[in-house]
Amino acid sequence: MAGTTERAAREERRELQTERLRDTVAHAYENVPFYRERLDEAGVSAEDVQSVDDLERLPFTTKEHFRDEYPDGLLAVDDDELLRIHASSGTTGKPKIVGYTERDLGLWHEVMARSMAAAGIGADDTVQNAYGYGLFTGGLGFHGGAEELGATVIPSGSGNTGRQVELARDLESDALACTPSYALYFAETAREMGVDPRELPLSTVLYGAEPCTEPMREELEERLGAVGIENYGLSELIGPGVAVECREAQDGMHIWEDHFYPEVIDPTTGETLPEGEEGELVLTSLSKEALPVLRYRTGDLTSLTYEECACGRTTARMNGVTGRADDLLVVRGVNLYPSQVEDVVLEFDAVAPYYRIDLYREDELDRMELTVELTGGFDGDREALCKGVLERLENTLSVRPDALELVEYGTIERTEVGKVKRVYDHR
Ligand SMILES: [Zn+2]
Repeated sequence: MAGTTERAAREERRELQTERLRDTVAHAYENVPFYRERLDEAGVSAEDVQSVDDLERLPFTTKEHFRDEYPDGLLAVDDDELLRIHASSGTTGKPKIVGYTERDLGLWHEVMARSMAAAGIGADDTVQNAYGYGLFTGGLGFHGGAEELGATVIPSGSGNTGRQVELARDLESDALACTPSYALYFAETAREMGVDPRELPLSTVLYGAEPCTEPMREELEERLGAVGIENYGLSELIGPGVAVECREAQDGMHIWEDHFYPEVIDPTTGETLPEGEEGELVLTSLSKEALPVLRYRTGDLTSLTYEECACGRTTARMNGVTGRADDLLVVRGVNLYPSQVEDVVLEFDAVAPYYRIDLYREDELDRMELTVELTGGFDGDREALCKGVLERLENTLSVRPDALELVEYGTIERTEVGKVKRVYDHR
């Protein structure tokens, strides 16, 4: 169908989206008591969906709903139709369980293959997949997409970094799929082994699953001598494969909106925001069978643009995620995202891309301690550097850490498996 193509006219795609949204609402209503109750409460039925604009009338789904309906209350198909189950680790409480039918897995592979093609990966490339395999959707998501594309996959999984470096060198991997923090760790490990990571054949890093600021991307590109392409997705919707940057323009991530309909809302009022305004990303699945999801509040803060990209694709694009609503820190009444701190400290050439933030409460007051690593061989004036970083933080973010410690390169613990942790809130 023409409306599914990445370069279709927006109007054409809109018709397809409306049709699919109506089917999804009907499917959820029929087969998921949770949605039936909530749609009845809101007084909306599938017949009321005349266009995608009617989405605003539907209630939101939240991560708490996934938790309340644990394990399978949100699934819309019988067990015998399920081919796969994944789970996303909640930092607290029960994991969110997600299921896939055969068609869902096909869809997942298709959107992942599309993402990798947009990232410049082709059938003759070798993709080393260092995302974790298992319940986490990262590993099997990239794996399925690479196979669908006809590329060669090395399912190296997470960890075992020395071995990974050898594989990348000996099997001449063209792309490394992993979190941004792991890409840095990989580069460091290579150096320690006497391998110059820039000399490896790697030309692309397909990164995602963690927030990554522009300066952090530049660091990983510089260290690996490769182009970093940002991927976005979440298990609740499908896994990775919701959005990706195109290699041609790298100007926001293309959302595969023939399958995932995006909105941005004011996180406080729930009101839909216009194009370009930053708010919380809300996604609705348009073609999922096992787990249809209506207006899922992702917790990710971003903005959308509908302008045609320089690459010729006409999909909506989202900016890099500035933070998760969950990551918001309130320090002495000031709202702050860890990514904002990262943005500021990495502007300094003497600072390596490793830092940690510790928060304490002392005598009813917040205390913020920041630890940053120096680049190897730094022999400049530490006091002046400290002063510079503190001043820049205060001027940019209106927060001055109570203590700033500069530590030697390699001091801060590295993350080899799983997602990086940089904030330690002891309050
Ligand atoms: Zn593009």
